[in-house]
This record gives sequence, structure tokens and C-alpha cells, in this order.
Amino acid sequence: MNSFLLVGLFSACVLLCACQPEQIKGDKTTHEKQASTAKGDLTSESSAIKDEISLPTEPSSENVAANELQPKSIVEEKTNPQANKLIESIGFADEQTKAIDILSNTESQKNYTPFCNLFSNQHEPNGLSEVDLTAKRKAFCDKISRRLASVSHQSCLAAKLAPTGCNSVAGVPLMLREFPPIEGKKPLGRVLVIGGTHGDELTSVSVTFGWIEKLNKFHSGLFHWHILPSMNPDGLLPRSAQRTNHNGVDLNRNMPSDDWQQNALEYWHTKGGKNPRKFPGDQANSEPETQWLVDEIELFKPDAIISVHAPYGVVDFDALRLDTAPKSLGKLHLNLLGTYPGSLGNYAGINRNIPVVTLELPHAWEMPSAKESDLIWQDIVAWLKETFEAKNSTGISSNGH
Ligand SMILES: [Zn+2]
Repeated sequence: MNSFLLVGLFSACVLLCACQPEQIKGDKTTHEKQASTAKGDLTSESSAIKDEISLPTEPSSENVAANELQPKSIVEEKTNPQANKLIESIGFADEQTKAIDILSNTESQKNYTPFCNLFSNQHEPNGLSEVDLTAKRKAFCDKISRRLASVSHQSCLAAKLAPTGCNSVAGVPLMLREFPPIEGKKPLGRVLVIGGTHGDELTSVSVTFGWIEKLNKFHSGLFHWHILPSMNPDGLLPRSAQRTNHNGVDLNRNMPSDDWQQNALEYWHTKGGKNPRKFPGDQANSEPETQWLVDEIELFKPDAIISVHAPYGVVDFDALRLDTAPKSLGKLHLNLLGTYPGSLGNYAGINRNIPVVTLELPHAWEMPSAKESDLIWQDIVAWLKETFEAKNSTGISSNGH
């Protein structure tokens, strides 16, 4: 198997050097390091072994090698049982949407003091002129499109991201796109989508941009969306991408879950082998990126959260009722990976009973096919619709967190 993997890695490097010299030049040591890490490291999350490239049309040796990293039950292709795929498809153009702020007067918002969140519930960011907004978008998209082969500068701009008011440690704005309710149509629920929590999972950012593009065409008001493609730009943007943020903290271990104080550092020391990739920080919620997410959950009050990761190739789920989990999204199947002190699934799913779907794409640096990405998206929408309709029919308010 290792020989397959090494052949795949070599092919990947050749391909990358040919396709994207400006991104790869001088990065040889990083790739070598990643290759040696991936070898024999079947259980870690460190198999980010190639840069994100346009999808191959034929299975490559790298595909074979990467698939060997996954349990057999996950690799098997199964027919998706959801025959009727749903998409948000009524065809309202984005420009025709008219915002209805259904959140502005809730009690908890009045009482909550945000860490840094100034804008994310505003359809027009307060205090930011159109000129400033355009400049921030352009600066952000310059960085993103240089980093990600599958997100062009134009498509990044078309995502119409707006600054949340929170910045990364290194000062990069956390940029969010809202698809608000449409006048006359009550959304079934509020959905938060997050990509790029781990900076070395490049596909999670690109796939999330792809879904924004989809909603640009098809947002029908079925849900109220907040979508943030890159939660950890400091981990993503450097030539040598890293899982942690600029302070070396794993953002998915830094959420202030109820057990953080008691367990997070001890778990990291004892069971985690002090793996620097999974350092939970010195304190819960110490990082501006996690503070944004805490603010966002408090203020937007999502009814469900979709968090995109890689490269395990499964669907993970955290909530008090696990029987409500999606059984599969595209060809990725439910496989509960467990919860950890400081993880989003623990904080939001277990402590606050907001269902968290963690989508683990099969590869961190190689995009799923457009068809597979479409199928995943359709299944997410179908699952959200089914879940919210069931919840609404029981008479539980969607503000009930
Ligand atoms: Zn991850």
C-alpha cells in the first residue's frame, strides 16, 4: 500500500509543479514532510498530501492510495437511498431577495455582549461604505484565489462575502455570506455553514465557495443561510498550510464546551500525545476565530450547523438525538467519530442541542467531482428540510435554543 501512496504522492507533485508553479515553487520540503507524515499514519488527520487541483477525470493512483486510508465500509459506493433530490430551485435571483430581519429584537441578543461580532446579522454591514466593502472583498479574494486553484478571483468576488467584524489572529477578516429570508416566505430554519476550520483542509473552503455559487442561483428562501468559507485563513493562506491557527491552536478543540476546563488540556496531554496539531489552547475560547463562532451561534441562533472538513470521507454528527442524523450525504456515509473537549460538535451539538453535521470530504487537497459535490449539497438540503419540518411539526420554536 505504501508504494501506491508514494507513487501517488510523486504523481501529485509532478502534476502540481506543472500546473501551479507560482503556488508550489520552493515548497518541496513541505511536500516531502507531508509525504513522510502520511506514510504509515493511517489514523491521523495529517494526510493532506497534495495541493488542491482540478479534479481528475479518471481515478488516479493517488485516489487508490487515499482510499486505502479509509475503512472499507466507507470506500464502498452505495446507491443513495434518497431518490428525490431536492434543491433550492425556485429561481429567485439574489438581487431580488429582500431582507427581513427576524432576529433583531430577541431578548438574548439584547443581553449578549459579543466578543468581536459587529456585522454578521446585518444585511448591509453597518459602518462600512460600499467602497470599503469592495476593497475588503478584493483584498480577501486576492489572497483566496492565489491560494485555491478552484476558486477564481471572479467567483470569489461573486460570493459577495461581507466582513463579520471579527479578524483572524493575523488580521485577515472572517468573511461571511448571508442568504436572508425572502419577503413573504418564512424560512424553515437557520443554517450556518463553515469551511476551513482546519487550514490544511483546502477542499473544505473550495467546496463551501461552490455552495455559495449554487445559492447565488437558487436561493429560494427555504432556509436562512449564513456561510463562512474560511474560518481559519491564517492556517490556509501560508504556502505551508497548517491545521491550527496563527497561535498554533486547533480551533476545533478551543470551543468552550462544558467539559473544556476539566478535560481539554488533560486529554491533550494523556490521550492526545501532546500532538501540536490538536492543541486546544491555554484557555477555552481564547482565539478570535472561535470567539467569532461563539458570537455567531449566540446571535444568529442556527437551527443546524454544517461544518466541512477533510480527509476522512465520512459524515459525522453531534446532537442529543443521534437518530436524526443524515445516513449519507452523496456517497459519504454516517460514521460517528466521537466528540472531544472543545470541539464544535461537543459545544453546539451536545451542550446546546444544535445538530452539527461534520462533513469529512475524502481528500484535503483534491476536490471532489462537481457531480459528487452536487449530490452532497442536494442531500444536505433534503436532510435540512426533513429535519426542520419534523421539528416545526412538533411545535418547537426555531428560536428555542
Ligand atoms: Zn478538520
